[in-house]
Amino acid sequence: MSKSFINDLLLEIFATILYHFHLKGSFNPMARVKKATKEEIEAIKALFLEHYPDSVTELDYRNLYELLIAVMLSAQCTDKRVNLITPALFEAYPDPVSLANADLEEVKSYINTCSFFNNKAQNLIKMAQSVVENYGGKVPLERDELVKLAGVGQKTANVVMIEYTGANLMAVDTHVFRVAHRLGLSQAKTALKTEEDLTKIFKTNLHQLHQAMVLFGRYRCKALKPECETCFMVPYCKSKVSFKV
Ligand code: SF4
Repeated sequence: MSKSFINDLLLEIFATILYHFHLKGSFNPMARVKKATKEEIEAIKALFLEHYPDSVTELDYRNLYELLIAVMLSAQCTDKRVNLITPALFEAYPDPVSLANADLEEVKSYINTCSFFNNKAQNLIKMAQSVVENYGGKVPLERDELVKLAGVGQKTANVVMIEYTGANLMAVDTHVFRVAHRLGLSQAKTALKTEEDLTKIFKTNLHQLHQAMVLFGRYRCKALKPECETCFMVPYCKSKVSFKV
């Protein structure tokens, strides 16, 4: 195993543990963060839209089927790692029919550098079987239908709809959760409640704001060493003191 792979894996495990602690509320350094005012929310929204006008996912895909698989794999796994895995996976299983008939152990062998690959492999096959049996082999492009597929929760369905159709939806991953709390946009303890809060306060441009918050959290407002000194959100940040490096 290479050193960079082990580093990536350790970071992913640490981020996952931190995220789950946040969700359970047993360790939440943002718990006492002040709420953003109406004016601050509008200013934060404008800044995100200004700084990330045309953001799209960093996952590689060529069609809806590939996007769905990439998003399913990306849960608790970096996009970078998913992009390393998917070319061979897509070549081996280019459509729902081939994946529906795939051997479980073989699918695992393609994705075994991804976290939770045992469950993910099972879900990928079940998802494809359901697409073949219930949707004529075509991945449905409706959120209410996507969530009926194995391994596809609300967040995954929303991310797919945001990316593929530009739907006015919010999805909360570990980055969006952290950023929302540091900026005082939500004090919720769960990702779904945070999604509700962001949807309610932002109302429009949700797909752009989702992509913006993911990139902002991934590259600037990072979990361990946020780049506060050069951050354009400084005037509105409620956590910069406690997170200053
Ligand atoms: S000032 Fe620091 S903690 Fe606050 S939003 Fe910017 S990077 Fe994040």
